[in-house]
Amino acid sequence: MQISAGLVILFEMRSPTELAQVFREKQLRLTPQRQLLFNLLHDNNSHPTAESLFETASKQMPGISLRTIYQTLGELADMGELQLVDLGNGAMRFDPNMGEHQHFVCGSCGAIHDVDITSAPKLRAGSAEGFAVEEVGVVFHGRCNRCNQGEQKSHHSKRSPGFQAKKIKQVKTN
Ligand SMILES: [Zn+2]
Ligand SMILES: [Zn+2]
Repeated sequence: MQISAGLVILFEMRSPTELAQVFREKQLRLTPQRQLLFNLLHDNNSHPTAESLFETASKQMPGISLRTIYQTLGELADMGELQLVDLGNGAMRFDPNMGEHQHFVCGSCGAIHDVDITSAPKLRAGSAEGFAVEEVGVVFHGRCNRCNQGEQKSHHSKRSPGFQAKKIKQVKTN
């Protein structure tokens, strides 16, 4: 199964310049370290973890602390510039795409792509009486285009597991 990631970026994070302006207005600390993070996150659709951002940032600005990364990410999330994405595989991801979208995870290289499926919020949970579903999240698992092409060349026989709805969050009410 091949999924061409339908990239729908409707609510992007503000530009580094605009963010600097907002941080000044809110009297939040605006340091070169924070501005580096704005730059690293801008147009970043790789869904980085705090640790991977720390790694990249350290190369450009040795001495930057993981704490600064977490603080800045937290502030950006509070301001609605970033969303936290939990794909159920441990690390929390940061996504500057605030538009409604789902994710495709490549089981081979670990890449995470944005996918646009409009019907996810309409999914109904059967046999869940007494539950009020507040959010439906669907994670697609498979192989990305790049890994698929590599596989075709090497005539590997392993097939993509295709569609798998993994996370359906239900919140119980009384
Ligand atoms: Zn891949
Ligand atoms: Zn995303």
